[in-house]
Amino acid sequence: MQRISGASTGTIPPKLTTPGAVIELLAMTPSLQRSALPMLVRNNSDQHAVSSATTAAGDLAVPPASRECQALTRLARVHFGVATAMVMVSDARRQRMLAVDGVLPDMLPPDLSGPSLHASMMPDRTVVVPDTWHDERFRGDAYGIAMHRPRFYAACALTSADGRHWGALCLLDELPRTLDEAQREFLRELAGLIAHGYERDQALTTLRERVEELEAGGERMTLALAGSGTGVWDRNVVTGEIDYSRAWKAILGYEDHEIGNRIEEAYLRLHPDDIEYVRATMQTHFENRTDSYAVEHRIRCKDGSYKWICSRGKVVKRDSDGRALRMVGTTTDITALREMAAQLQQSIELITNLTDEVPGLVFQFRLMPDGRAFFPYASDGIRDIYELTPHEAATSAETIDALIDARDLNAYRESLKESAASLLPWHLEYRVRLPRQGLRWRLGDARPRRLDDGSTLWHGFITDVTDRKHIEAELQELATIDFLTQLPNRRHFMMQSEAELARIRRAESRVAAVLMFDLDHFKALNDRWGHPVGDRALGHFAALLRAEMRAGDIVGRLGGEEFAMVLPDNGTDAAIAFAGRVQQRMLSTPLLYDDEPIVLTVSIGIDIMRATDVGTQQPLSRGDRALYRAKERGRNRIEIYGE
Ligand code: GH3
Ligand code: MG
Ligand code: MG
Repeated sequence: MQRISGASTGTIPPKLTTPGAVIELLAMTPSLQRSALPMLVRNNSDQHAVSSATTAAGDLAVPPASRECQALTRLARVHFGVATAMVMVSDARRQRMLAVDGVLPDMLPPDLSGPSLHASMMPDRTVVVPDTWHDERFRGDAYGIAMHRPRFYAACALTSADGRHWGALCLLDELPRTLDEAQREFLRELAGLIAHGYERDQALTTLRERVEELEAGGERMTLALAGSGTGVWDRNVVTGEIDYSRAWKAILGYEDHEIGNRIEEAYLRLHPDDIEYVRATMQTHFENRTDSYAVEHRIRCKDGSYKWICSRGKVVKRDSDGRALRMVGTTTDITALREMAAQLQQSIELITNLTDEVPGLVFQFRLMPDGRAFFPYASDGIRDIYELTPHEAATSAETIDALIDARDLNAYRESLKESAASLLPWHLEYRVRLPRQGLRWRLGDARPRRLDDGSTLWHGFITDVTDRKHIEAELQELATIDFLTQLPNRRHFMMQSEAELARIRRAESRVAAVLMFDLDHFKALNDRWGHPVGDRALGHFAALLRAEMRAGDIVGRLGGEEFAMVLPDNGTDAAIAFAGRVQQRMLSTPLLYDDEPIVLTVSIGIDIMRATDVGTQQPLSRGDRALYRAKERGRNRIEIYGE
């Protein structure tokens, strides 16, 4: 045991403890106690001024002993005239010393009023051991021979309001002694005071920590609000005063002292067009018809310009009749946001107008990896192009597939598939059948790109090309049809003949008959009846040919009064028969002029078109040679080449 000299005068020798010294006593097991002994007192300072040692806060979160606790400990030692009085805090695992006065023991005695005992098990809360040498609980290694230890031990449990033991007020002395009932009672009273003070200190500490937390939170909030350009206001609805934060004033360009705190003044700063709306919204919230107040409006700054702000608030206090007393809220500058939104809106309107006003459909078309397709964007032109609304095409393109003309549906699908695979632009002319417009031509152009999810997105447009297609068809007709006879002209006849030769080449077994016609003595007819009659004669002959033709036969006016035919899948015999029928018709159906019949005759040369022919010119020349022979041999004849 080490003597704390001057204990009665309230000082501890520098050798032992100082106010800052750490004393931590573990008392779980005797062996632990012993091993803990060298750590009992650590002291490296000669500065000291208190009589009671203090423990540091550890796992038990023991706060430093209060002056009151120290004083009560000293009072206990002096009153009972013992060597040591101490306050221990303990739980099931360990003990710590909160305050000590007098001789510092080598080790902490066991807490016999310990935390495992409930108050109900120790009615008077005190334990008195007159002589520890004769007490089992103090025997053994822990308080062994080598150890200088107190003979007298008394303790009174320190209990919380709910009856839990959390420590003990201990008295130790070097000589055996005991306490009478009055002394025990006084010990209990002192313990009661210490326990009460300790609990109050703990509650205060908790409260202080909570306040610090709240203050730190409040400070954080203030910093965050200021940093985000948000101002705070606090309005006393009854007096009409508003307290603005510095950040609030800064939004409007005011210094802290430059702005009044009256609600009337606040309304003067509102943009005249917004006053009514702001007042109404505020009133609605005052009347508790909304949960909170939120408005966007313009407010005049110090320099006279207007800013857009967003103001949100809430009545935080009402009287018993529900009347608003106090309201707090925040104000955020949203001028830049509004300007950006307005610019964005303008851009959107421009694009929408452009896409809606240009003739045709401007679109985004998306094809998903699973084959689903839809138009994420379609301009208003879709009403003309497909007689649908943008909305109808937004989720599925199936309605559009159903509008594509059956003849072009396959080409339509394939072209999109190819464009998706190659990522080359999509370009297609196709027909649609629409409920209102009927059969129409459409021209689509779009550029594809691949998205991360594997889908393909096209941007493009589709226009109505029906009129152009009609003109093209007319031009095509003009370019291919001989006006006088309405038969295909030479160029068109040659093209069709070439196509037939190609077919013959693909299926070598096939042949086609070639017939060359030249009207006889036509010059004389012209000379006798006049050129217009000659023209009618040409038309008449063309009609006779047409009357004899079957589907698939190829015919043409090669020029002047010369005509030619190709009869697919026909040989010489069929050609001779055909030629004969034509001549027969000419006889039986003469051209009438003023009811006078004009008999026309024709010479015909025949040959066969074969797969071995290099071009159509070959069989046509052979047919021509046969025709020449027919002329030679007297006209109105049929001649076969080579016979
Ligand atoms: P041939 O029996 O030997 O065939 O004698 P042809 O008079 O029929 O033959 P030729 O080649 O000498 O004369 C053809 C005539 O056809 C000459 C031309 O004036 C006439 N002709 C050619 N094109 C037209 C046309 O478009 N209209 C009219 N009316 N006559 C035409
Ligand atoms: Mg001729
Ligand atoms: Mg002729």
